[in-house]
Amino acid sequence: ASSIQMQGLHKRFGKDTVALNGVDLDIEAGEFFTLLGPSGCGKTTMLRILAGLEEADDGRLTIGGKDVTEVPPHHRSVNTVFQSYALFPHLSVRENLAFGLKMRGVPQAQREEKVAEIAHFIHLGDLIDRRIDQLSGGQKQRIALARALVCEPDVLLLDEPLSALDAGLRSQLQVELLRVQKRLGMTFVFVTHDQDEAMVMSDRIAVLNGGNIQQVGAPRDVYERPANAFVARFMGHDNLYRIMARQGGRLTTEIGELEVEELEIEEGNQHAAQGELVLIRPETLDLKPGRAEGVNHLPGRITERLYRGSHAEFRIEIGSVVLQATVNNRGRHLPEVGDEVTVVVAAEDLVTLSE
Ligand code: ADP
Ligand code: MG
Repeated sequence: ASSIQMQGLHKRFGKDTVALNGVDLDIEAGEFFTLLGPSGCGKTTMLRILAGLEEADDGRLTIGGKDVTEVPPHHRSVNTVFQSYALFPHLSVRENLAFGLKMRGVPQAQREEKVAEIAHFIHLGDLIDRRIDQLSGGQKQRIALARALVCEPDVLLLDEPLSALDAGLRSQLQVELLRVQKRLGMTFVFVTHDQDEAMVMSDRIAVLNGGNIQQVGAPRDVYERPANAFVARFMGHDNLYRIMARQGGRLTTEIGELEVEELEIEEGNQHAAQGELVLIRPETLDLKPGRAEGVNHLPGRITERLYRGSHAEFRIEIGSVVLQATVNNRGRHLPEVGDEVTVVVAAEDLVTLSE
């Protein structure tokens, strides 16, 4: 496995499109690292620069400690899996897997050994002698992954490889891919626009917007301590409220009086200390029947309830604003639409942040 360092990577297309706006990023050897962001934020451009398929306008790139800024693709120990499978449809799985090895001049006996090894690893079983055009979408994507892995690159780049698959198959392949990456110990740079997928798969995530990195961190950091409102919203948070006044840990917000832990203010970054928004995560809330006033007690009325079996999601009107709450279903009473409730907020779960 190889580490990757990006320093000040810039990439423009034409006059007006800034695809990467000075990206600095360190990826560790053996890490499952994910680039997460909306369509057009520069994810594919970054992968293409790593692969050597695109040249940065400015900046430096090292892979495995070696400056590869000017090194052509075939001299980098990097392999790429795209969303489209790019397999040879009329050849067998076995022939597809062996193709890259053959191109690299690996002798036949060794080729067969490596193909058998990866087939075993990825549980290809009796697919191995089928033709590609006889396979389902999920099977093809599995073969595309196997083909990229068989050459044992130091770094594997994966550009939304699971996006085209249906939910069931997708979560199955997520698990499989993660297991293979951990076993082989390769560095994976994985691209997705799906925050759930990013959280499940990654050691660390970089959130991108408009060619700029917004935050780099472990899934829990990015979800529980988003660096700004963009990251919070992208991670699926809706409960963001304006702070009108602040005195120590005491906030006057558009949703009510809130007490945040001093800890967060002292140890938080500058953003946190100066933030003008407070984030209330829906799964940290408790709902009590009836109206109670007080700090971190928000009286409201249920306007919507989505029962999901394991949990229920509520929309609650609090004054003129709406709050979402997720409550685990543990056999206790679940409030109903129209009920008056008090939302109890835990000080340690609150984060302040900026736009
Ligand atoms: P993502 O993969 O995150 O969706 P891309 O890296 O593909 O984003 O694109 C980033 C920006 O660069 C977009 O505005 C896109 O339209 C533009 N772009 C990407 N490739 C090209 C290209 N070959 N020519 C012109 N513009 C491009
Ligand atoms: Mg893309």
